Amino acid sequence: MTDQLRDATGGDVRLTGIGKTYGSFTAVHPLDLTVPQGSFFALLGASGCGKTTTLRMIAGLEEPTSGTVLIGGQDVTALPPYKRPVNTVFQSYALFPHLDIFENVAFGLRRRGKKDVKKQVDEMLELVELGQYARRKPHQLSGGQQQRVAVARALINHPQVLLLDEPLGALDLKLRRQMQLELKRIQTEVGITFVHVTHDQEEAMTMADTIAVMNGGRVEQLGAPAELYENPATTFVANFLGQSNLLPAEVTGGAGEDLLVSVAGTRLAVPRARCATGAERVHLGVRPEKITITHATEQVAEGRNKLAGTVLDSSFIGVSTQYVVRTDGGQEVTVFEQNMERDARIVPGAAVQLHWNPAHSFALDAAQAID
Ligand code: ATP
Repeated sequence: MTDQLRDATGGDVRLTGIGKTYGSFTAVHPLDLTVPQGSFFALLGASGCGKTTTLRMIAGLEEPTSGTVLIGGQDVTALPPYKRPVNTVFQSYALFPHLDIFENVAFGLRRRGKKDVKKQVDEMLELVELGQYARRKPHQLSGGQQQRVAVARALINHPQVLLLDEPLGALDLKLRRQMQLELKRIQTEVGITFVHVTHDQEEAMTMADTIAVMNGGRVEQLGAPAELYENPATTFVANFLGQSNLLPAEVTGGAGEDLLVSVAGTRLAVPRARCATGAERVHLGVRPEKITITHATEQVAEGRNKLAGTVLDSSFIGVSTQYVVRTDGGQEVTVFEQNMERDARIVPGAAVQLHWNPAHSFALDAAQAID
């Protein structure tokens, strides 16, 4: 870690009953949310779900209609942005075009009459790996490099919390992936709290320790990426983070740790621990990559969840083959099969068995709409 950041400390963010309405429209329903100190936290959701408004209320750029914002234990609800211990990085880098990279990063320090400007800026440029570009102008850098300058400029003010509003949105996919890892590295190195807004589930899963999935101005689910992926609590989360098969089913009983359900007459098992509902009518969920597909004539081991069906379509999509299968019960199931040789592909029309470890099933309340 660089000298100047050694004593930087991240603060936690506590939102209590924070909400925002515009006239009669509620952009953010009052919500309680804690962002742990020193964590990489993502607000994830589709366009219009209220994630930017939530971030802007933390920054002080938007006045909440209700609730309080605490940063590092301090109530900042009534403070203007510049008095809050936060800094924001936007999608538009907003660098000064006439200043070189060094002066862009030094700007805040010079304005506040700080000493040791050269040392601090040099260290910061090293942190974002732009030391050799100090004397270039912003237009002489790539989009990703400009975004790193924006991050350096925000971090040099020693915020307790760095807020990032779709900072990678303007970059192409390859650069975005590189920058995701880069931002994660920088966050780990400086150890302060990052709150990152994105609509890209892969991005949130790559970078964040904790994700808050937002939908319609509410937090639908909060958790570690793997937790949300393995145990989605709602159909929205199940489909927003990756792809899920959601099969209408009825609970018929139990067997030890498992709940037994009937999917169009076929009995399948779901771990009770992975049932987000006590309802009788559920959606049985299983991720496409958890399912194995075999010819109907092949023997399948005991204890697996099994569904018989017919292949409607198969397509080679690089890392896997994607199958669409119509089950004998009339439901469509998608399967990603990674372990199959290309020439062993099962052709449309073939009778097949789909099978998976029951531990990979989950159950959601069927009353929820499938998004
Ligand atoms: P995006 O990814 O498109 O920015 P978002 O999830 O960040 O979406 P917000 O920008 O937080 O969404 O907006 C939430 C809702 O509030 C949207 O429906 C938006 O149209 C509405 N909204 C935002 N700002 C205003 C405003 N100043 N006046 C009226 N409605 C607004």
